[in-house]
Amino acid sequence: MGRFDGRVAVITGAARGIGFGTATRFAEEGASVAVLDLDEGAAAEAAGRLPLVEGAKAVGIGCDVSDAGAAEAAVERVVSELGGIHVLVNNAGITRDNLLFKMTEEDWDLVIGVHLRGAFLMTKAAQKHFVEQRYGKILNLSSVSALGNRGQANYSAAKMGIQGFTRTLGIELGPFGINANAVAPGFIATEMTDATARRLKMEPEELRRLNAEHNPVRRVGEPADIAAAAAFLCSDEASYITGQTLYVDGGAKLG
Ligand code: NAP
Repeated sequence: MGRFDGRVAVITGAARGIGFGTATRFAEEGASVAVLDLDEGAAAEAAGRLPLVEGAKAVGIGCDVSDAGAAEAAVERVVSELGGIHVLVNNAGITRDNLLFKMTEEDWDLVIGVHLRGAFLMTKAAQKHFVEQRYGKILNLSSVSALGNRGQANYSAAKMGIQGFTRTLGIELGPFGINANAVAPGFIATEMTDATARRLKMEPEELRRLNAEHNPVRRVGEPADIAAAAAFLCSDEASYITGQTLYVDGGAKLG
């Protein structure tokens, strides 16, 4: 018996990285899963690789979460193809790092658009169903960068914004049987952090090694570390937890 038997989970930006790791964990625990990503082909291919339990289904849907029409259409497609929606993970994300004086308006708008506007639009589309059925779990991806990070004014503003958004969802939606929480990952080995390494003119392995050296638990995170926290926060075991942000960073921001 899995924690998500009979549930339908929607995960944005899930063709790879943390999103795919989380989709995998939900599938292992019994959920039917909708993999949303910019490219429908990549989303469908990822959906095809999920370890579904018997009777569960998966679908890959192309969706730019910062587009209101696309977000609404994706949620309706999930409901019609998978038979409902119970869990939403707002994971899709991008970075456009630069020091403030070099950051363009486009870099600012793109990052705020995907993380904050995207989470807002997807949540708005899903909450109609959640409120109607008096059940829903929302999990938003914040970051340790919410606490401030050089070269990430746009990203850190978006990720702290996610924490305020999550607290407000907790207050507004709690009476309807809906929990909303966030996880704030530290350094997780994905294409996003590999791209950061390349921008810093480093090999991805070198950046991972440096981060591991400075981390209290002496390793970097893997998508499965975030997936485990996401699965707990979206499970019925966590039904008295809402509006919270859980830092999953090996203690990186403790000192
Ligand atoms: P990733 O490997 O770059 O994956 C992100 C996925 O989101 C990609 O498949 C990307 O598609 C998709 N995406 C981008 N814009 C989108 C949009 N507008 N609509 C739908 N999908 C979109 O990143 P990750 O490292 O797994 O990060 C996942 C989440 O965790 C992000 O919110 C990130 O900010 C957060 N996070 C990551 C870390 C870390 O260390 N990795 C730390 C803290 C927080 P394309 O490939 O087509 O662009």
